[in-house]
Amino acid sequence: MSAPLIELRQVSKHYRRGAQQVDVLHALSMDIQAGDFLALMGPSGSGKTTLLNLIGGLDRVSSGSVIVAGQALEALSSGGLAAWRARHVGFVFQFYNLLPVLSAARNVELPLLLTRLNAAQRARHVAAALAIVGLSDRARHKPAELSGGQAQRVAIARALVADPALLVCDEPTGDLDRKTADEILGLLQELNREHGKTIVMVTHDPKAAEYASHQLHLDKGQLVRGEA
Ligand code: ADP
Ligand code: MG
Repeated sequence: MSAPLIELRQVSKHYRRGAQQVDVLHALSMDIQAGDFLALMGPSGSGKTTLLNLIGGLDRVSSGSVIVAGQALEALSSGGLAAWRARHVGFVFQFYNLLPVLSAARNVELPLLLTRLNAAQRARHVAAALAIVGLSDRARHKPAELSGGQAQRVAIARALVADPALLVCDEPTGDLDRKTADEILGLLQELNREHGKTIVMVTHDPKAAEYASHQLHLDKGQLVRGEA
């Protein structure tokens, strides 16, 4: 078998809060294979977002190593890490994080402004990403003119547009009703199965986790139980 896409080796993370040290993750080790759709569950405050941010290169370990596709993230400079993120990771958040003044298409285009693609090439990629999420007819709409489910689809198109191997999703259905949540989860499942995206998704919702191929549970910064 080839090396895992993501390797966590003895990963610890603590924050400083004044004079106090808050230990969030404790010597956590695990592998995530290319092609997995992993649901990361656990109570509020258990370190799920912290772990996701380390995997996506949004934050840095206190000690240990996060290796993604052979690259040890702690070895990169902050500029190097930003460039790595732009090429390899798409992010999806609970509250979509769209820029309100930009159209759906302009929001989706944002990650491409960090690449060498020209305007015509960017427009083609944006159109393809909006087509994948089923929103070709909403390209000119502003976020306020979209439903929550549509806004999350735009955010997913933005996560996809630079064709990253990895999608990290933090409570992507946390603000959506059941039916809309199921549609978004179906889309993530399709991106995993048909477009080969490896997905790490944090969720509180056991029903959402059922869409994943694997589940892991975090409690107080430790992995407590996993189910295939
Ligand atoms: P979860 O996503 O599982 O709810 P988080 O990873 O957001 O948990 O947070 C885990 C713990 O780390 C919490 O106790 C939280 O208060 C603390 N924490 C998270 N981010 C910071 C930060 N930037 N500074 C200080 N403490 C933080
Ligand atoms: Mg969280």
